[in-house]
Order: sequence, then structure tokens, then C-alpha cells
Amino acid sequence: MSYRWVKSNLFAVIILLFTGGCHYSNSKQSNYQPTSDSTVVSPVSAPLPTATPDTTRNKPNTTPIINNAKLVDIQSVNKNIVVDIRYATSNNFLKRKVYPEARCILRYRVAKKLAKVQEDLAKNQLGLKVYDCYRPLSVQKLMWQVKPDNRFVANPAQGSRHNRGAAVDLTLVDSNGKELEMPSEFDSFTPASHRNYSGGNIQALHNRQLLENAMQKHGFIGLSTEWWHFDASGWKDFPSLDVPFNQIPRS
Ligand SMILES: [Zn+2]
Repeated sequence: MSYRWVKSNLFAVIILLFTGGCHYSNSKQSNYQPTSDSTVVSPVSAPLPTATPDTTRNKPNTTPIINNAKLVDIQSVNKNIVVDIRYATSNNFLKRKVYPEARCILRYRVAKKLAKVQEDLAKNQLGLKVYDCYRPLSVQKLMWQVKPDNRFVANPAQGSRHNRGAAVDLTLVDSNGKELEMPSEFDSFTPASHRNYSGGNIQALHNRQLLENAMQKHGFIGLSTEWWHFDASGWKDFPSLDVPFNQIPRS
């Protein structure tokens, strides 16, 4: 082993240490395929520079965050997205209203990307209808009280993807706001809700693919078990929050 060999290889190892770690974390994130919104515990990761760190899940951050990570109402970013927040009504699997207001609130960066999806779809006389967006941790606790079953509701001790403000449940609508047929109803928790379900109506499968393509184009990652659920790219960087809806401006 010559001095020259050691010197050149040592240099290569140092380069790998600096570049490999970043590449690994990026590729791991972009290829991540979650299996369930309600049961997967998201790993804790580094917060955005502008965000207050989520140091403990038992003491959620209650301070609204600025810039790209701040919480905004989707209506203030794009008024054409149809809002049908099911948990603000009794039309959901819990059979009771658990959200104080029917609002779709997301991180600013995520809302801007969703608006891009809406703009793309509008060119083909289609649009988005959202069923669920940001959910404060206190509401997660209420849902857990109503149905303490992690097959359907995420345990608030770990939190739901929706607590981060980077997850959205949604479907497609036509230019009249009428929902396009999908393989199952929202929150149906049946095999037909799985993203790889191939039975049923061909048109419904086509519509599901249309939604997935439109969302993927702007970096959203679909949940394998729920055709309606998508997480924005980098969702793990956003900590869970317990900011109540009434602290988030409408415009
Ligand atoms: Zn969801």
C-alpha cells in the first residue's frame, strides 16, 4: 500500500462521507412508501430552519411558524379548490363532528404546491376537493377518545401525518364541483381504498390514476393504503403542531 494510494483513497472516503449522507437521506425520503396513515409512526427528523423544533411529542409547539412552514388557509392561496372537511360534520366514520371549523389549513409551501395541482387540472375542466388537511394534536386526542383503535385513528402519542400540516386527503371534481368516481368512498378502509386495487370500475381506476399523476407532478407522495391521502415532499421535516384553527388567519 503506497503513500500515494492511501492519500488518494483517503480523499475519496472523505468526499463520500460528505456527499453520501445527503444523497442517502434524500433518496430515502423520496422513495418512502408508507403503509398506513393511522398506524405508521413517523420518524423524528430535523426541523426546517424556520421551524421551532418538535423536541417532544408530549409538549407540542403551539407557536405559529413563519415563512414556508407557516400554516395558511387553502382558500387564501386558491379559492377554486373545493373544501368538504368531513370531520367538521358527522359525515365521517366517527359519526360525529370533531373539527370546530370546516377549513383546509396547510403549510404555506404545501398549499402553494396544491394550488399548482389545481391550476393544472383546471386546464382540463377538473379540480380538487379536499376532505382533510391540517389537524391540531388536541383534535387527534379527541378522535382517539372517540375511537381508540390504531387501525382507524393514529394514537396521539405518536401523532398523525395530518398533525404536521403537510398531508391532504382529497379527490377530483368536474367543472361543476361533482366528484369523479373513485374505487371507494373516502375513509372506507376496504381493499378498494388501496392504491394498487385493480378491481371494480375501470373508469374509477382511471380517475384514481389521474389524481395520482397530478399530485405526483408537484411532489406529493400517495399513501399505499388510501387513494385519497397524499403527503407533500419533505413532510417529515415539518413537526406536529397544536395550533388551533381559530389562530390561523382566513386570508
Ligand atoms: Zn389522510
